[in-house]
Amino acid sequence: MTIMKYTVGALMMPVFSIFLASASFAQASGQGDIFAQRRQEMVDRQIRQRGVTDKRVLAAMLKVERHLFVPVELSDMAYEDTPLPIRFDQTVSQPYIVAFMTDALGLEPTDRVLEIGTGSGYQAAILAELVKEVYTIEIVKELAESSEERLKKLGYANIHVRLGDGYKGWPEEAPFDAIIATAAPLEIPETLLKQLKTGGRMIIPVGSIFQQLFLVTKTEKGYDKKALLPVKFVPMVTPYDKDRSKDPKSDQGGIFR
Ligand code: SAH
Repeated sequence: MTIMKYTVGALMMPVFSIFLASASFAQASGQGDIFAQRRQEMVDRQIRQRGVTDKRVLAAMLKVERHLFVPVELSDMAYEDTPLPIRFDQTVSQPYIVAFMTDALGLEPTDRVLEIGTGSGYQAAILAELVKEVYTIEIVKELAESSEERLKKLGYANIHVRLGDGYKGWPEEAPFDAIIATAAPLEIPETLLKQLKTGGRMIIPVGSIFQQLFLVTKTEKGYDKKALLPVKFVPMVTPYDKDRSKDPKSDQGGIFR
């Protein structure tokens, strides 16, 4: 996997601070063909050309309709090279970041994966195209409920959404082949590491203002930890510090810096 062939500065993305409290989400419309064409361009230019070449990952990114996961006012921007605001001060990551993180996990069709931070459900849908079962946890009630409904409508019977605190993981379904966090804790949560199988992989952004994306592999002896690239995700909050997520500067999920 080629990580970066270009300067990170070139990837600075605009920050969106659009207020979308009453946003509704796009339903399937007659614009399908335009969106399919844009999706193809997104995969070619933003993902394949930047070094994500795994056929299964590319096929999933081509198939899942990102415009159905963003507020309807933003559906026209769904295939742009940028994260987008969803609701409740949260964001869906830039398509390249979704593909990069998915690719880094080296997923097999038989895998069971845990995601922390369901958000819009887009990353969960990409995972569900590639693995057997996806377990995803969201701390914001409205997002957990709306995403669960969206994913059900789209026919994803292998995605299980839980409203709760991702720091705790999903002990009843552990151990997992892979764990993906799409919100950033200050350090890698021990509880989540314990829920990985031996040989299992976890991808997770870590930090506050400066964040690094880490790939951790659980070995027989311990953990291998590799820093992959600088990123900017929303914070992984606890039920006690939900206020941190109200910081408008945090509303930048998955932007390259
Ligand atoms: N994966 C999402 C993007 C997530 S944005 C997508 O594809 O749309 C990060 C999400 O993590 C937000 O929805 C936020 O509410 C959630 N989050 C933050 N802290 C959390 C925690 N402790 N447990 C579960 N979810 C959390």
